[in-house]
Amino acid sequence: MKKGKAAFLLQKKKFVIDEIGTPDCRDDEVLVRIKAVGICGSDAHYFLEGKIGDQIVPEKFIIGHEAAGEVIETGSNVKSVKAGDRVFIEPGISCGNCEFCITGRPNLCPYVKFLGTPPVLGAFRQYIVMPEKNLIKLPDELSFAEGTLAEPLAIAIYGVRLSNFQAGDSVAILGTGPIGLSVLFCCRVGGAGKIFATEIIKQRAEMAEKLGADYVYLADRQDVNSEIFEITNGRGVDIAYECAGKQETINQMISISSIGGKSVIFGIPEEGLIFFDPHTVRRKQLPIITVRRSAFTTSVALEQMCKSPIKFSSIITHRFPLEKIQEALEIVSTRSNGVIKAIIEP
Ligand SMILES: [Zn+2]
Ligand SMILES: [Zn+2]
Repeated sequence: MKKGKAAFLLQKKKFVIDEIGTPDCRDDEVLVRIKAVGICGSDAHYFLEGKIGDQIVPEKFIIGHEAAGEVIETGSNVKSVKAGDRVFIEPGISCGNCEFCITGRPNLCPYVKFLGTPPVLGAFRQYIVMPEKNLIKLPDELSFAEGTLAEPLAIAIYGVRLSNFQAGDSVAILGTGPIGLSVLFCCRVGGAGKIFATEIIKQRAEMAEKLGADYVYLADRQDVNSEIFEITNGRGVDIAYECAGKQETINQMISISSIGGKSVIFGIPEEGLIFFDPHTVRRKQLPIITVRRSAFTTSVALEQMCKSPIKFSSIITHRFPLEKIQEALEIVSTRSNGVIKAIIEP
C-alpha cells in the first residue's frame, strides 16, 4: 500500500486535499507516480454541475483522466515498461471481451472503467495503479505536461478519421477550446484546405490563428456564416466540427456544412436536449457524426506532437500544483485569465 495525496471533489464546486492509499500492483499492473494531469472540459462539467447527463459525481470523488507519470513498480508479468519509464496513461480500461472490444471499438465498451468518470476514481492524485496495457511510453521530446495532451488530441484524431476527412477538404471548427484546437491541429497537419475557426474568447481565437487556421472569427462580433459562404463561393465547408457544445454552434454547424458535406459534434452540451433543423439536414443529406472518446489514436497523437513543426503544446497556458486545484477548476470552468489548457502537477 502506497500513500499519497489526492484532490477529492465534494459534489459541486469544492475540493479537499486528502491522503489516499493505493493498493500494491497485481501481476499485470503497474504503479505510476502521476506527474501531470490535464484539466478537461468534462472535469469542468463535473466541477460546476456535479454531473454529466446521468453520470453523477458521488460525494468525495476524484476526477481527472488526462494523465502522464513515471513508473514506480511493476507486477511480475509486466514486460513493456519498467521502473523509471515515463508514460502516458490511457484512461479507459475496457473489458476486452465484449462485441465492441473484439471488433476494435474499445471506446464503445459498455463495461469500460474510465478514470474520473463515476464510479471510477480519477487521476488528480499522486499514485495510481493501472493495467500494463493502458500505458504508452512518452517520447523523450515531450514533457509530462505535454504528454497529457495526447488524450484530447487522440479524440480529435479519432473524430476527424470518423468524418472521413480528406486532404484538401475545407473545414470549419466552431469553438477553439482545447478540443477545437486539437481538431484544428489535426486538420492542419492532415493537409486541410481552408480552415475556418470561430470562437468567442480572444486568446483562444489567437491560438487558433497560431495553430494555422486561415480565417478566424470572433463569433459574437461578426456575421460568420455569410463570410464563410462568401469565401467558399456560396458552397459552405466540406466538414463542420462543432466543438463548443452549444445550440448556436450546432445550428451553425448545419448551416455552413456544404450540400453532401458532413457535420461532426465533439462538444458536450450542458442541456439534456439539443435541436436541429431536420429539413436542412435532409436536403443537404448531412450525416451528423458524434464522437465517443478515442480508439487506437494515442500513439499517433504523441507522434504528431513530436513531428509537427506546429508546436501544439503551446495550448498549455496554466500549471498548478495539486493544492491549487480549486483555483484551477474555477479558472477553467469560467474560462477566465486567458486559460486554454490548464495542467495539474500533483
Ligand atoms: Zn479529456
Ligand atoms: Zn468491452
